[in-house]
Amino acid sequence: MLSRPRSMIARAARVFATLWLAAMVAVAGSVNAFAQNVPVVRDAEIEALVRDYARPIFKAAGLSNDAIDIVLVNDQSFNAFVAGRRLFINTGALMEAETPNEIIGVIAHEAGHIAGGHQQKLREQLERAKTMAIIATLLGAGAIVAGATTNSRGLAGAGMGVAAGGGEMAQRSILAYQRTEEMTADRSAITYLNATGQSGMGMLKTFGRFQSALSLSGAQVDPYRISHPMPQERIANLEVLVKQSPYVDKVDPPALQQRHDMMRIKIAAYMGGQAAASRLMRKNPGSLASQYGLAQTTYLYGNLAAALSKTNALIKAQPKNAYFQELRGDILMKANKPKDASEAYAKAVSLDPARSGLLPVSYGQALMAIGTPDSLEKAVVQINKGLARDRENVAGYRYLAQANGELGKIPAADLATAEGHFYSGDYRNAKIFAMRAQQKLKRGEPGWLRAQDIINYAPPGKKK
Ligand SMILES: [Zn+2]
Repeated sequence: MLSRPRSMIARAARVFATLWLAAMVAVAGSVNAFAQNVPVVRDAEIEALVRDYARPIFKAAGLSNDAIDIVLVNDQSFNAFVAGRRLFINTGALMEAETPNEIIGVIAHEAGHIAGGHQQKLREQLERAKTMAIIATLLGAGAIVAGATTNSRGLAGAGMGVAAGGGEMAQRSILAYQRTEEMTADRSAITYLNATGQSGMGMLKTFGRFQSALSLSGAQVDPYRISHPMPQERIANLEVLVKQSPYVDKVDPPALQQRHDMMRIKIAAYMGGQAAASRLMRKNPGSLASQYGLAQTTYLYGNLAAALSKTNALIKAQPKNAYFQELRGDILMKANKPKDASEAYAKAVSLDPARSGLLPVSYGQALMAIGTPDSLEKAVVQINKGLARDRENVAGYRYLAQANGELGKIPAADLATAEGHFYSGDYRNAKIFAMRAQQKLKRGEPGWLRAQDIINYAPPGKKK
């Protein structure tokens, strides 16, 4: 299930507009705090697909894929950037891309930035630019004050001019720096695409689209376009490199394209609504992706029995697809059949090649809904399994606390609540619940030790 904006684990709705700011905050050390300001959505299927896109590229770039988390950002605009160890990608970017290759190209370009160590340099550059801007502002403000005291409009105007000029100077310095970095990242991207036998056409298409969109006075400005200036010269250089590649005409494998189509329809169905999904389905009516879209829109906006029969047909077509089983589980949960749902989720967990932490948590929720002491015990096992794979799933701790609470295991419930607060960045409440858990736990046992870690934790930049 793709968690929708209302129910998602995301916190505030503020999105960073540019890569500059993102890189700055992330490099400053508080990636966790940064993530809290991004409307994150979680979905096992999409996360697995984007990781499959990124894996060969990161390997070619000499970056360890294990170390990189995929973070889906619920935003309709186009953006993708790397901050710290995370690859952030907007659902809007995934929706816009017609082929996997378009996204893979963007990932290759971003990998070029990481491998080139651009984040660190960017931060230094920003520091310098900021200093320049501050000096310019001070000069401007001084002139304005002078103008005000002599009651001269002319001088005040001059002051404004100085301020604007300084900002422009700082901006120009960033742009000059960026141009070099962007072309370096483009070249690296082509190297990685060649190494993995993939075409650069998707990247060229995406970047070309940004360039042409610049000439229009668009209502919506994509953050990616602001952070990635696309002058004619850059596109022209890129085009030469792309067309020189022996893989220029290589297309994505059909199975990957199918997963991509299913992902786009899913995002459309959950984020854009029935009409958005129908628009995509009309392009390829008989396809499996369209059937998937229809099952999902029927589940979300229509009849559960009809959704179930459509999903069963999908399962028949692809019996090993973990996410069809997951959808079946979601439908059965909504239909208030937790026992059947738990069986579907159990299959989803066992079929999932990506070993997502989300599916065992869904399985655990279904077991909780059954509500017997035995199923609650099993729920705790499954939710813990999910959390072991995915430590920062805040919603998972909430369910874990609830399941333990219903079993009368109060210290374990308190510890789970502490963890949930901890990973959502609420260290104060995390400590309160960790201390409460410790009072009832045996000194030195694993739960007690974990509680102690939370109590001892000092957030970056703050005193304990
Ligand atoms: Zn770039």
